[in-house]
Amino acid sequence: MRKKSKRKAINKVKKNPLWLTLLFCFVIALIVDVFIAFFASSFTTYIIESKIVGEYESVSYLAKLYDKNTDENEDIFSALNEEGRDYYIADKHGKIIYQNGNNTMGNTSGYLELPSMADKKGDHGDVRAYLDNSTEGFLTTDDEGKITFDPESMLAFAYKVEKDLHADTQGKQASINLPIWIAIDVKDGKQVFYGKASFVFSMSDIVLLSAFILVGIALVGCILILMLVNMITTFTSQKRMTKYFFTDPITRGHNWMWFTYKGEKILRKRKFASQTFAILDLVFLKYRNYCVCHSVAEGEEMLCKIDRLIKENLGKNEFSAHYASANFALALKANSPEELEARVKGLLEKLEALESDHRVTFHVGAYLLQPVKDAKGRITKRRDIDIEREYNNACTARATLDGCDDSGIAFFDADLVEEQKWIDIVLDKYEAAIENEEFVVYYQPKYDPKTSELKGVEALIRWNSPELGFKAPSTFIPILEKNGLIPKIDKYMISHVARDQKSWLDMGLACVPASVNVSRAHFMEKDLANQIKNMVDKEGCPHEYIEIELTESAFFDDKKAMIDTIEQLKDMGFKVSMDDFGSGYSSLNSLKDMPLDILKLDAEFFRGDLNDDRGEIVVSQALKLAKDLNMLTVAEGVEEKEQVDFLAKYGCDMIQGFYFAKPMPKEEYTKRMDDLSTPENEAIAQPNPEALRKAEERRLAAEEAADEKAAAENEAENPE
Ligand code: C2E
Ligand code: MG
Ligand code: MG
Repeated sequence: MRKKSKRKAINKVKKNPLWLTLLFCFVIALIVDVFIAFFASSFTTYIIESKIVGEYESVSYLAKLYDKNTDENEDIFSALNEEGRDYYIADKHGKIIYQNGNNTMGNTSGYLELPSMADKKGDHGDVRAYLDNSTEGFLTTDDEGKITFDPESMLAFAYKVEKDLHADTQGKQASINLPIWIAIDVKDGKQVFYGKASFVFSMSDIVLLSAFILVGIALVGCILILMLVNMITTFTSQKRMTKYFFTDPITRGHNWMWFTYKGEKILRKRKFASQTFAILDLVFLKYRNYCVCHSVAEGEEMLCKIDRLIKENLGKNEFSAHYASANFALALKANSPEELEARVKGLLEKLEALESDHRVTFHVGAYLLQPVKDAKGRITKRRDIDIEREYNNACTARATLDGCDDSGIAFFDADLVEEQKWIDIVLDKYEAAIENEEFVVYYQPKYDPKTSELKGVEALIRWNSPELGFKAPSTFIPILEKNGLIPKIDKYMISHVARDQKSWLDMGLACVPASVNVSRAHFMEKDLANQIKNMVDKEGCPHEYIEIELTESAFFDDKKAMIDTIEQLKDMGFKVSMDDFGSGYSSLNSLKDMPLDILKLDAEFFRGDLNDDRGEIVVSQALKLAKDLNMLTVAEGVEEKEQVDFLAKYGCDMIQGFYFAKPMPKEEYTKRMDDLSTPENEAIAQPNPEALRKAEERRLAAEEAADEKAAAENEAENPE
């Protein structure tokens, strides 16, 4: 799901709408072009026609004069000649009867049919216009003799004529005369009057037409330029955004987003199908320490240097990025694990040399991405690439180096694959396991080292899975903790332990406080004390029979919230203990601030030789310290008689260890308590009746509250 939304985000940034802009540009330019062409040709036609009509009227007038003249004696030709126009009259066989001026008609063979003059037909019969010699080039006629105008060649022609005229008139401004011969049938069709029409195309016409076309071209140009500018700005801002999106704010190099995007692109390529790649997690150890010794700014500068150095050592089609904090992700070509190891070691040496006055070390985890084969055993291109998953594997491998301060490299191997599979199984099955009550409570008693009297018990979880077998907490608790799923388990345990305690009390057994482990992750939950109280009350167990164990590491999260919760729990009558004291850091400081009842010394205290002076001093002083702080003490992991004697000597209150008892199933522990509940042990066996009465009251109140809540919910759902 997360991956999908990330991909979406990447695609959003990478999506390039350039082709859309280009297409839009092209369509707009095309539309404007069509309009300009249409208007230009209409305008040209209009100019040409309007000029020809005037001329036609004059020629027609002469033809009319000639046609109407019936007086043989009248010198009609002198009258016609006075008009100063070239004309001639031919009989129907084409023989010229009379001619005035030059006859240049007919060389191009075509004739014009003037559309706007069609209605003038009939006056003198057919009207035709023949092309003059000089019209060749811009007026063309089709097979039927109809004229078509080609504005472009007309302009070229006009330019040529203008040049000629300029030469002729020595630079004087001139108009362009494009002669056309107009033929009009006269004398009832027996003769034809040919008049030369001077189609005068003045320079202002050319200028107007040119201006019109130029404005059109400029308009198209403007639109194109605007589009281009828009395209370029979109493109550059998109590039800038992409860069920003893929840039790490600290190293100013590539970030994780880029790594996954680029990585999936490269690794999916067919040409790299047979190439083994190694996905690496490289971490700069003790980065925080470095920042404390120098400064955060110097620490970040160091990360920049690391990023740069890694980049300098990359080969072609290898890539890297700053992941987060002091972690870097790398993808290197790996022909063999040995070669990769040698290469990484070389890189680590260079990285270590980045600092001369501060020892810097690095851990690298490597996951080898082998070529993928199809069903027939042929190498195929990698389709199922999940860089995040591969990088996680590299991180898992790197984590195996935790605890070692020197630089090193670890590979993700078969064991880790199994480990990963197990993690997936736990995460997949734990919820059903809770529902099916597959988790069982084991009890490990705590005894007084002096009297061997039962003083307390710790509830420890086991997973009795019909499918997976019997599992110790170390195999699943850390996984659930890491994935934030532990609160459910802790609540399960509190409820079950409270239920068991209540039933033992009801049985009149020698009940002692039972401690339940509550994970540090659980302490992040608000209202934890109330939650615990409600669970215990629901089972009707007196609060003093429940002890809450916190691990020492929990004390480093939110100190204030922790103190508040401890105080609330104590006010409610629960006991609170610190588990594994001495296994972490800063224990003394947490003791100072936390109002705890019980201190549990970690088993590590008893692993060495207690008779050595230093060991004795540490343990005895820890016990004294707890005593001075009014705390009871429990020693965990005690296996030897000498350890028991030693702890008894220094006043340790309880011992929890294999020496006395291993964690045992509920039934076995019940039997142990039953054995203790003899008349001699009456004092222990006798539960506090007042505490029992109060617990019963709370149980009833809790039941009532639950009923009321259910009724209110029911009413809200069905208001009627
Ligand atoms: P812990 O709370 O410190 O529990 C003590 C562990 O030490 C238990 O391991 C117990 O079996 C073991 N132990 C006790 N005496 C001896 C001894 O003499 N020798 C040796 N070698 N071991 C001894 P276990 O039951 O495997 O539990 C491991 C850890 O798992 C617990 O450490 C606790 O942190 C966690 N855990 C167990 N149950 C729960 C639970 O219900 N909730 C949570 N959050 N954590 C739990
Ligand atoms: Mg514990
Ligand atoms: Mg412990």
